[in-house]
This record gives sequence, C-alpha cells and structure tokens, in this order.
Amino acid sequence: MKNLFGLTPAQLAAELEPLPRFRAKQIAAHIYKHGAKDFSAMDDLPKALRVELAERYEIKPAELLSRLDSADGLTTKFLLGFDGAAVEIVLMRHDYGNSVCISSQVGCQMGCKFCASTLKGLERNLTAAEMLGEIFVAAEIFRGEGSKLDSVVVMGSGEPLMNFDALIAMLKLLHEDWCLGMSYRKVTVSTCGVVPAIKKLRDEKIPVTLSISLHAPDDKLRSALMPINSAFGLTSLLAAGDSFAEATGRRVTYEYILLGGVNDTEEHARRLAKILSGRLANVNLIPFNPVNERDFLPPTRNAVQKFFHFLNTHGIGATVRKEMGADVNAACGQLRAKFQR
Ligand code: SAH
Repeated sequence: MKNLFGLTPAQLAAELEPLPRFRAKQIAAHIYKHGAKDFSAMDDLPKALRVELAERYEIKPAELLSRLDSADGLTTKFLLGFDGAAVEIVLMRHDYGNSVCISSQVGCQMGCKFCASTLKGLERNLTAAEMLGEIFVAAEIFRGEGSKLDSVVVMGSGEPLMNFDALIAMLKLLHEDWCLGMSYRKVTVSTCGVVPAIKKLRDEKIPVTLSISLHAPDDKLRSALMPINSAFGLTSLLAAGDSFAEATGRRVTYEYILLGGVNDTEEHARRLAKILSGRLANVNLIPFNPVNERDFLPPTRNAVQKFFHFLNTHGIGATVRKEMGADVNAACGQLRAKFQR
C-alpha cells in the first residue's frame, strides 16, 4: 500500500487525480494539522471515498518499535522503524517547552571517536518524509498529553549536513502553514563541521539555529577526536560559523563534550575562550555520556563546574547541558544498539 505521509498538497492532488484539488487539501489538513492516520476519521469526505482511499493507501509517519520513559517522566525515547531501518528519537519535556531530538541518517560515516552512532558506519540517509515522520510521532505524543511540540533539534544519529537536500526539504515542509507551521527559529541543526555545507545552509536563508560540535580548542586534539577536522580545520570552521551568524543574525552554539582528562582542563577552557572571543557564539558544555563501546571517561563534577565558570568569567556565555533521561540511555544510538544486539 502506498504511504501518503510526506506528500505535499500538490503531490497529493497529483496522486489522487481525478479527485478535485480541494479534496487533496482536506486530506492534507487531516494528515498534517490533525495527525490523522486513518481515513475513516475524515468526516468531511464522502463515505465511499474514505473506503476507497483506505483500500489503496495508508498514512504512516513511522513504525513504533519500542518506547522507554524515564522515571521522572520528562524524557521519552522511541525506536522507530522505516523500511527495515531503525532510528531513535528523544522527546524532552523542559520547563520552557517540549522538544524532540531526531536522527538524520541511519548510522553515520563521520567517525567521531566518542560517539556510538558511527561505529557501524552509514547505513543510509533518511528521506525528508521519514524525518518529518519522526517529528510527527513526537507531535502526536505531546498532543495526547494536552500539550504541543515547541521545538525540534536535529541532533540524533547521523550528520544532517551530509544529507543536505533531504534536510532542507524537511525543514521547508515543517515550516509550511499546511504542515506544522514551525518557525525556523525553533529548529536547531547540529553539525560536526562540514564547512562547505554550512555555507550552503547559510545561502538557503533558512534561519535555523546552527549548532557546531567543536569539542576541542585546537586542531591537533580536534583532529584526533573528529576525523572531519583533518578536512576542514578550526580556522575555516569558525569562519563558516561567523558567516552563518552574520547572514542570519543568529548566535551560533558551539557544543563542547567534556571528556574526562582529555579536553576538560583549565588550559583547554582558556584556549576555547580565546578562539571564541568576540564571536557571536555561545557554548553548550556536554558532560560525556559513557557508552559501552567507547572508553572515554566522563568529566568530574568539579571539572565541569570549573570549565563552566572559566568561560562565563572570560566573556563566553556557556551553559551545561542538563542530563536528561540517563535511565533511558539518552545517549545517541544506545536503544538502537541494544535492539540490534
Ligand atoms: N553529527 C551531528 C549531529 C549528531 S551528534 C554533530 O556532530 O553535531 C549530536 C551531538 O552529540 C554532537 O555534539 C555529538 O558530538 C554529541 N555526542 C555524541 N556522542 C556523545 C556522547 N557519548 N556523549 C555526549 N555527547 C555525545
């Protein structure tokens, strides 16, 4: 059966010819505004049409493979299936709103040394409809709780800028009035630093929040942790971040994982403050989330506090990522890894 989820109203109209265009619009509203997954609920369509549609089509944002809720109820993780591939999403209920972290690829080819998602390489890119499906699963859950989805972060498994066209298509769909009408400002795209693609994203004039995974204040350490740095070093990466900030007027977030004993000393903080000084940027410190397959250590509580304090007293706005859902293994790829085992 053909899946209608992800088709634009125009594509729906073409698919459903010779139905009049207004019918396609009605169906699009059911799918995207009301999250309908069943034609029988579309009560502004004639009954015979609903039956006929149900025989030929399905509406399936994603297949739910498993769900895990944290004990405090603030974090929910889903493993979703798309055509035999499995990806994770993480729903987070913050005091400032609800967000979902989605994946952009099945697996990842970037090879960062601390990350579990890249261990088996890239399986495949997700399509725009599949990424939108991840978001719709979250929107439906929040709606069911009498609440709503407020923001999206593309920070799950995969490198979104290596799946550029599908990413842009998904962002545009998400933003459409007939879809969720989400403001680009409510979307964060996180990259390990694919410099040419950051420039391409800037030229798309889609003012999302750009998050750059920095993780080290110098090329030597960064190249040891992140192979991408050997292709595009810090100077060009920071320049690309600046030009994105300038074009969009939006502050760039630099993510910095604190790896115990590796990049978490005061000397690292000093060098980080130095390279970011004067830039339209802030820093989000992420204490390393230990994953079975990687043998880095998390930083001590004291090291996190000192690093945070150093940046904030040296002119760099920094936050420490609140650890959410440790009991549901919120680190990328953990639910999926377990599923595959
Ligand atoms: N490829 C993109 C988005 C996916 S990774 C990127 O690199 O930004 C999302 C974030 O999680 C990145 O900052 C990544 O470095 C971080 N991350 C990966 N593994 C982690 C771990 N075990 N603990 C903490 N953060 C991790």
